[in-house]
Amino acid sequence: MSDKHRPQTKLAGAGIGSVSPSRAVAPPINLAVNYVWNDPLNKPAHDYSRGTNPTRDVLQNALCELEGAAGGVFTASGMGAINLALYLVGPGDLVVAPHDCYGGTHRLLTARAKKGHFDLALVDQTDPDAFAAAIARGPKMVLIETPSNPLLRITDVKRWAAAAKAAGAIVVADNTFLSPALQNPLALGCDIVVHSTTKFINGHSDVVGGAALAKEASLAEELAWWANCLGLTGGAFDSYQTMRGLRSLFVRIERQQETAQRFIEGLQTRAEVAKIYYPGLKDHPGHEIAAAQQKGFGAMVSVAFQDNIDVVALLRRFEIFTIAESLGGFESLACVPAVMTHAAMPPEARAEAGLSDTLVRFAIGLEHPEDLIGDVFAALDSAG
Ligand code: PLP
Repeated sequence: MSDKHRPQTKLAGAGIGSVSPSRAVAPPINLAVNYVWNDPLNKPAHDYSRGTNPTRDVLQNALCELEGAAGGVFTASGMGAINLALYLVGPGDLVVAPHDCYGGTHRLLTARAKKGHFDLALVDQTDPDAFAAAIARGPKMVLIETPSNPLLRITDVKRWAAAAKAAGAIVVADNTFLSPALQNPLALGCDIVVHSTTKFINGHSDVVGGAALAKEASLAEELAWWANCLGLTGGAFDSYQTMRGLRSLFVRIERQQETAQRFIEGLQTRAEVAKIYYPGLKDHPGHEIAAAQQKGFGAMVSVAFQDNIDVVALLRRFEIFTIAESLGGFESLACVPAVMTHAAMPPEARAEAGLSDTLVRFAIGLEHPEDLIGDVFAALDSAG
């Protein structure tokens, strides 16, 4: 599709009629494991589906188009995508990552560093001195996660990607919390963008998947090589379903963030709320940077309740918010990171990351905003 079209238009048209000889409008699922060679000396474009698959291609191409990437890989999970990117570094190389990154990323980084796969520096990337000092150590890779999970801290991507690249690092951004609809890290100077497509990209809470997409073709080729070598690629059925979800990304996330805004206005009236973490709020320390580098503030809201609120009991009283990990689906979710998503993080690391025990992370879905507000109010009002 032509460059003059907007991302929404390109996405709606992505892959139409491209895969099957019958020219089906919706690209069909191609479940074949292997493909016919016309001649032993003439390797076909697809030969074995661990390496390449036509259905996975449609999704990868659409994601690359949205992120402005030269190429990339749809992986079996978001962790698979991050792990894949980490195969670009080796023993003795330094990886700099945020101290408050997603708990699973924290676990992956620390476990692999402990095995000697690379050296690791976990830093507060919102502290300019700490971040600059880590970059001065000459890392081979810098991982950025903005907005961060669950405190929605904002990293100035342009500034730090430029600094990290000047120091010789490959810059990787985890764009899961916003999706390509609301932020494009490659356009801000990063080399690789990773996603848990499990979240907003698929949006229907029924496929686990991930993506690692590179701005330059050479890095994209390295990612594809390692994905095939390690067997990290996502399956055809998952690719098909994720593509189906991706079609409606823009309309979903735009509605979800409008609802998030309304939800926050409701919660701001409650004395039980100690602090709301949302980059769209003017008093959020990263508000101005978020406004400059994002196309919207997203649909994730974290709320620290007053110390006397038993947040575990509060969640048990919710009728609409489902208690579950994950985010970005059609359904609103609530979780207590300290005992759920971030339970793998040691208490000291949680404390250092500013992650309190009364923090509740809300993933806003497609329900009516007033019903969501009413759900929290009812749960607070019925507190014993
Ligand atoms: N990155 C972020 C920011 C996440 O929130 C998650 C999962 O919650 C992941 C990566 C991992 O993705 P997956 O669960 O698809 O492996």
